[in-house]
Amino acid sequence: MSSVQHVLGIECTAHTFGCGIISSEAAVLSNIKSEYTPKAGGIHPREASQHHTEFASATVKEALQRSGLTLSKIDAIAFSSGPGLGPCLRTGATVARMLSLLIDKPLIPVNHCIAHIEIGRAITKEDDPLVVYVSGGNTIVSAYSDGRYRIFGETLDVALGNCLDTFARALGLPHPGVPKLEALANEGKIFIPLPYVVKGQDMSYSGLLTTAIRQIGKTEPKDLSLSLLEVAYGMLAEVTERALAHTEKASVLLTGGVARSLRLQRILASVCREHNARFYVVPPDLAGDNGAMIAWAGYLAFRENLSVPVECSFIRPKWRLDEVEVPWRK
Ligand code: AMP
Ligand code: MG
Repeated sequence: MSSVQHVLGIECTAHTFGCGIISSEAAVLSNIKSEYTPKAGGIHPREASQHHTEFASATVKEALQRSGLTLSKIDAIAFSSGPGLGPCLRTGATVARMLSLLIDKPLIPVNHCIAHIEIGRAITKEDDPLVVYVSGGNTIVSAYSDGRYRIFGETLDVALGNCLDTFARALGLPHPGVPKLEALANEGKIFIPLPYVVKGQDMSYSGLLTTAIRQIGKTEPKDLSLSLLEVAYGMLAEVTERALAHTEKASVLLTGGVARSLRLQRILASVCREHNARFYVVPPDLAGDNGAMIAWAGYLAFRENLSVPVECSFIRPKWRLDEVEVPWRK
């Protein structure tokens, strides 16, 4: 199976339609994305999927053009089959099936969370880290053990990125919320106590979000932003620290869209220093949802014969990270 040299990956779980092409040496040949931004409020699944339908063709064409390859030089097609929003996943899967049929090459379903982890491992060349995966839709602390990525802590309700984005919107800040919120928090001076909720190894962000929103108008936005970030990141740091002590991994890898947060990077780097662990962050252009990471995870799966016929290429909106066998790690 080592004849596979170029994999094209389609990302389409939520706000982003992405197409990336990667080589068997994990060189990113192109990575193009088109992002849906709601006019008001959070992501509307049907509107997002309509955006993806509209921009799919141009995104795929541009990814091919930038890579310098024609479709005939692509050896396999990978796509995010979950977890994610049903209408968005369906659009991405349809595009991927069509491409696979067109060039008569294998179709590989990829778990989106696995892709965030694997691109981080490949780029940092860190083989076995404890992974902190934080994005708009996911908050997971995970490590590989015995054939799977096991979960050592996750959110019980809203994801970290979603919590911060929702609060940023309530303050009237434009999308993407997290960097705007952090800029505001950098001017904050006063810490206001907010609900810090860690249950066992899991985090709950919904009460924190509601309380912070209720404080708007009663507290300076900069102090409120500072306090929200301190509590939200503090909860994640606590869970990460215990997972690190328990798993005894020698490093931590921060991945996902919120990995671009310098404030979060500083906090987790200090946790790592305390435990003599190495700290790695996925580069900014590969942190958010993108097609190249799907292509890379697809390549790893293809080497293990994990392609599927088109008629079995279902989407899996609730596909958990810890349900997936990862034979390439054995
Ligand atoms: P993803 O779902 O992986 O694409 O990540 C989206 C999340 O990343 C959203 O919560 C954004 O607010 C957040 N984000 C975007 N840019 C940045 C940044 N520069 N620093 C921190 N978070 C960011
Ligand atoms: Mg993501």
